[in-house]
Amino acid sequence: MRVLVVEDDPDLNRQLVGALSDSGYAVDSAHDGEEAKFMGETEPYDVVVLDLGLPELDGVSVLKSWRGQDRDMPVIILTARDQWSQKVAAFDAGADDYLTKPFHTEELLARLRALLRRATGHASALIEVGDLTVDTKAARAFVDGASIRLTSHEFKLLRYMAHHSGRVVSRGELIEHIYDQDFDRDSNTIEVFIGRLRKKIGSDRIETVRGLGYRLIDPTVDAKNDATA
Ligand code: CA
Repeated sequence: MRVLVVEDDPDLNRQLVGALSDSGYAVDSAHDGEEAKFMGETEPYDVVVLDLGLPELDGVSVLKSWRGQDRDMPVIILTARDQWSQKVAAFDAGADDYLTKPFHTEELLARLRALLRRATGHASALIEVGDLTVDTKAARAFVDGASIRLTSHEFKLLRYMAHHSGRVVSRGELIEHIYDQDFDRDSNTIEVFIGRLRKKIGSDRIETVRGLGYRLIDPTVDAKNDATA
């Protein structure tokens, strides 16, 4: 899952990028409104943390511009205590949630998880695909109740696929959503990680759809569908 952090306070920006990276997100950051506007227009973020008081272009204008161009990623705004009218304007412009400064990082992380779940149609922090369970809060995965040891890259890949289970995701989409801007984006890496994931969770859970990409499935349901087809 890829996050854009927009915050002009350098300390808070660094702190947010650090906390989100530690939680397994691919994170890009912007320090002013123009930079943010451009990044949100050109990169496919899964969620954005947007400060409202920004140099060059204010946060509400940035958000309006994104929504005007059908950029519909979930956006959580950061506001100062005295910015209630800005907050109203931001919701009218298409914000999904807000936090008032100062806030606890844990609360921001919990709100981000909730936004990501809602955006992909999941009500709980546990995503189940057959007997595969992906715990998006604890960053762990289980097959038939048994814990699976995954590296952080493997988990990022599995989490994205679990959020979009049943749907074909292309290699390009996976690269764009699990790596930040600075990462060396070699599409062969995805194949290597898919191979490792298959070894750990069972190869029949990740289907290769030739020419299109990969699909995380519940192999037992798929077998039944094939039998009745
Ligand atoms: Ca600010």
